[in-house]
Amino acid sequence: MSIFHALGLDVGSTTTKIVGVDQDGRVTWHQLEFTDPHTSEQVERFLTSACQQVGSLEGIPLVATGYGRRLVSQAARQVTEITCHASGIYREFQHGGTLVDIGGQDSKIIRISPQGRVLDFAMNDKCAAGTGRFLENTANRLKVTLSQLGEEALSANQEVSISSTCTVFAESEVVSLIANGIPLPSILRGLHRSLIKRIVAMIRTVGLVPPLMLSGGVALNPAIRFLLEEETKEKVLLPQYPQLVGAQGAALIAMDLRKDN
Ligand code: ADP
Repeated sequence: MSIFHALGLDVGSTTTKIVGVDQDGRVTWHQLEFTDPHTSEQVERFLTSACQQVGSLEGIPLVATGYGRRLVSQAARQVTEITCHASGIYREFQHGGTLVDIGGQDSKIIRISPQGRVLDFAMNDKCAAGTGRFLENTANRLKVTLSQLGEEALSANQEVSISSTCTVFAESEVVSLIANGIPLPSILRGLHRSLIKRIVAMIRTVGLVPPLMLSGGVALNPAIRFLLEEETKEKVLLPQYPQLVGAQGAALIAMDLRKDN
C-alpha cells in the first residue's frame, strides 16, 4: 500500500517542503530543503524522491503553494498560502481561531471560522522585521545557531529594549550593545520582543479570536511561543509539524482532486 495518496508542495522564500498525506490526511512522508533559485530542478528532485517512495506518481495529485507556486508546472493546481495554511491547521485542530504563521521572509495572520473557512487575513511580505529573517541576520552576526537563539533569549535575567525597527539597523544596534558589555541573552530577549510586538500589531488588524495557533519555521523557536503568550495573554497551540502546515494543506486540497475520493 502507498505511503501517501496526495502530495503538497510549498515553495517558500526560505525553505521548500513536500508533504505526502494518507487517506486520512495525515502526514506520512515529507522532505524539506532550503529554497533553490532553480525552482524547476528542485521540484524535479523532490518529485523523483516522491516517486521512489511509491513506485509511480500516476493518480497521485499534486497541489503547489508558497511564493514560488506558479513555477510548479507539474501541479494540478496552484493555491494561495492563506488557503493552504487554513486547510492544514484545520486538519490538525478541527476548530477555528487565529493562526499566526512566521516564515523566513513573510508573516501572516489568518482568522479561521469554526468550519475551517478563511474569514480574514493580513500578510507582511514587504519588510523583514516581523519575519524569521529579523532573527536570522542577528544570529549570523552573533554566531549563535538558530536552535540556540530561543533558549538563549529565554535564559535572560534582564531584557534590553531594541529601538530599531529595521532589520539592518537592529543588527548594528545589537553589535553596539555587545560592545557596551550588555549580556547576549538580554539582547536576544529584546530582539524577540521586538519581533513579537510587530506580530501582535498585525494580529490586532485582523482581530484575535482564540485559540491562537502558531506555524512556520519560526514556531520552532521556544521564545517566540513564550513571548506571544505573554504579549497576548492567550495560550498558543503548536501543531505537530509547524513548518509543514502549508504543504500539508496543499496535499489535503490535492486529496480532494483524487478521482476515487
Ligand atoms: P518559508 O515558508 O517562508 O520559506 P519557513 O516557514 O520554512 O519559511 O521558516 C523559515 C524560518 O524558520 C527561517 O528563517 C528560520 O529563522 C526559522 N527556523 C527554522 N528552523 C528553526 C529552528 N530550529 N529554530 C528556530 N528558528 C528556525
